[in-house]
Amino acid sequence: MSVPVLMYHHILSSDSFIASSVKNFEEQMKFLFDNGWKTLTSEEFYQFKQGKLQVPKKSVLITFDDGWRDNFVYAYPILKKYNLKATLFVVTQWIDEASKVNDCEYIEKKHSECKKLVSTNPRSVVCSWDELKQMNDIFDIHSHTHTHRDNYFSDISWKDEFTESKKFIQENLGFEDSYLCWPRGIYSEELIKEANNENFDILFTTKRGVNLPDNKMTEIKRIAVKKDAKWLKKNLLIFSNSFLGYIYAKVKPQ
Ligand SMILES: [Zn+2]
Repeated sequence: MSVPVLMYHHILSSDSFIASSVKNFEEQMKFLFDNGWKTLTSEEFYQFKQGKLQVPKKSVLITFDDGWRDNFVYAYPILKKYNLKATLFVVTQWIDEASKVNDCEYIEKKHSECKKLVSTNPRSVVCSWDELKQMNDIFDIHSHTHTHRDNYFSDISWKDEFTESKKFIQENLGFEDSYLCWPRGIYSEELIKEANNENFDILFTTKRGVNLPDNKMTEIKRIAVKKDAKWLKKNLLIFSNSFLGYIYAKVKPQ
């Protein structure tokens, strides 16, 4: 069997580029809850991949990328309501910059606006360390590198992307992280080696596909979530099935 890994970015009032509407997200989470899907913690998923943990047939890993503030405002209460677990990959420099400035009111913005505001008013669109700590009962927090390779605040080497994000997570959340999600889906054999050298043991991509208990940790496949609960139901059926998921990913890899 395969465990599908879902990829979300924003949850906003309405559907838009890499954003699910609150309505669709709530319906999808209700679908998981009503139909007995188990949402794994990142640790459970890791153990499943190692072949050490047997998980129920209907198991799924929910992931979010970047650390947008709408995740705290919209996604967190819905996940909590249905008692579901999720994993959040954060850009540690963005979180840290957002945490340095005075708090400000959340104003909902679409993805393109959020990307602009990261450098000018990070707190308006990005979670703070305090919010991440609050969400820790539902979300496992992991690294999405330090800068996302966007150079908003500084231009650093790949080695520093790994070591800095690890350092900031250690200092603010108190554990040594070994889970990494590549920014904007960028990676190579070379980068995988570098990440492994810095003790990032499990690496998440933006490629679609199946995840089997084969102990291969360098290319975790994810499905970008779209549309509604019906769409989710169909895609969970496909990507829980190792054969079907393999064929679908061949036809449409991203
Ligand atoms: Zn990202």
